[in-house]
Amino acid sequence: MCGIVGYIGNKQAYPILINGLKRLEYRGYDSAGVAIYSDDLYIYKRKGKVQELIDYAKGKNIKGTIGIGHTRWATHGKPDNVNAHPHVSGNGRLTLIHNGIIENYALLKEALKKEGHVFESETDTEVLVHFIEEIQKRDNLKLEEAVRIALSKVVGAYAIVVMDKQDPDKLVAARKASPLVIGIGEDEFFVASDPTPIAEYTQKVVFLNDEEIAMVNRNGDLQIKTIEDEIQTPFIQEVDLKIEELEKGDYEHFMLKEIYEQPQTVADCMRGRINSKEGWIKVGGVDTTRDRIFNAKRFIIAACGTSWHAGLIGEYLFEELARISVEVEYASELRYRNPIINSDDVVIALSQSGETADTLAALELAKEKGALCYGIVNNVGSSIARLTHAGSYIHAGPEIGVASTKAFTGQVTLLSMMAIHLGYERGTIPRSYYLQLLEELENIPNKIESLLKSTKKQIEFIAGEIKDADNALYLGRGYNFPIALEGALKLKEISYIHAEGYPAAEMKHGPIALIDENMPVICIATNKSAYEKIVSNIQEVKARKGMVIAIVKEGDTVISKIADYTIEIPDTDEPLTPLLSVVPLQLLSYHIALMRGCNVDQPRNLAKSVTVE
Ligand code: GLU
Repeated sequence: MCGIVGYIGNKQAYPILINGLKRLEYRGYDSAGVAIYSDDLYIYKRKGKVQELIDYAKGKNIKGTIGIGHTRWATHGKPDNVNAHPHVSGNGRLTLIHNGIIENYALLKEALKKEGHVFESETDTEVLVHFIEEIQKRDNLKLEEAVRIALSKVVGAYAIVVMDKQDPDKLVAARKASPLVIGIGEDEFFVASDPTPIAEYTQKVVFLNDEEIAMVNRNGDLQIKTIEDEIQTPFIQEVDLKIEELEKGDYEHFMLKEIYEQPQTVADCMRGRINSKEGWIKVGGVDTTRDRIFNAKRFIIAACGTSWHAGLIGEYLFEELARISVEVEYASELRYRNPIINSDDVVIALSQSGETADTLAALELAKEKGALCYGIVNNVGSSIARLTHAGSYIHAGPEIGVASTKAFTGQVTLLSMMAIHLGYERGTIPRSYYLQLLEELENIPNKIESLLKSTKKQIEFIAGEIKDADNALYLGRGYNFPIALEGALKLKEISYIHAEGYPAAEMKHGPIALIDENMPVICIATNKSAYEKIVSNIQEVKARKGMVIAIVKEGDTVISKIADYTIEIPDTDEPLTPLLSVVPLQLLSYHIALMRGCNVDQPRNLAKSVTVE
């Protein structure tokens, strides 16, 4: 959350900063701001989207070749012009942008007030910039030294970039638990929350590690040290980011583009990893840690949000196919629960961004306790990818819509491959079933493609029928239970309709009381096992006049007679069902949100890459 970007070089900073903020807007859109230095310091900040800032800055002095920019997801202080970043120190010398939370800000603020500091905003960030100023002033320190000392006294999470008016040939950046990457161009440097604002200028980057401070100079110098003052050698990597991947292309929204990309992203996730004809499956990270994964007593899957739903599917997959016992945990609960984690456990972290604060912290804990840590992430070079012992990228390409779609199917594809691989190698599934699953997995991209075509009109129609509902219930059994949760989450996130996902049989233990003719009940009923049970659950809803929208497998004749609306999807082996059954639910939410006039890509209050607890 919060996107930060900085530039120093020979080019005009403003267009680079604005372009970067647009790319990072998925991380927050409460306010946007820039600070640029030319003959003096110019700061423009506005509540709302980057476009508001652009309109506001039009005609003003935006010249300068050094600057910083920020797009905010508010944690401390309401979203308004005053709380917007950048924030300035009391003497007007330092300007700072920040992603994260300074947890001891209240104590620091009190102490600084006693020294005469006056604060304009309610943010924790403003306290930090005053604190750095105070340290700098006291001993007449260089900016980097003042930043280093200040950060050694700060509790919390941060990615910051600081600019000093009296030394306008340098930016100082630092991170702890929030991401930061430095782009190295020809006589220029970029600093950003992720590589997307940098990719069109250079593919050469350095991912900063926790508690590292970077100094980038106009003379082309890059220096990195730790907050303990130890010099580090920058590890320069090439990222492979294509600009088309960052644009909407012909689609109206990123979310729609990302839903339609799924045949490709699922195929990309499997590329080079499976071959049904030759009968092999290779998941790099699993092979390098083979002994510990194969002999694990237990898998613990830690995740948040949509990734947690993918984790629940992982539980069904690993337990059924590989007979490994699995626990799926909200990372935010796991980390504070003093959990029992042993050295023969494998902790699998799922996160699209690879930066989710709670998931990272849960992993750190698991690592301390000696478990093998395995990361399944989308963003290459992200913190989780670097912290874990082994892992796999899902290769879904940048996901920009705030509501996750293709990253979810990527995670489920990866978990399916791991479970099939482990099941076969551990001898818990026979070769014939193994080969059948491999072949079926290879067919999934075509099946998603065909269901996207065949269900389009019908989903739009159903969206129109239920768009005015105040509540919705999603029911599923087995592999479709996590899909019910995910379908409900998608609807809540982007259309603001209250929705709940339930195991179909649990409905009668409570939610059934809510059912009347105004309540759409979306039943995901593609199951082969327990089919009759879910038919009975649908009957129970109908008996109470609920409106049933059923997702069924092609050719289903029973449920289509009972349900008000049915959406048919291609048949597949039961463990792979979620890869198909989630897609119509993503589309249904999209169309409902669109019809309700909601901002599909940037839903209110939400942001992507949750780098705060
Ligand atoms: N705590 C800062 C603020 O509220 C930054 C928030 C964030 O990074 O999400 O302004």
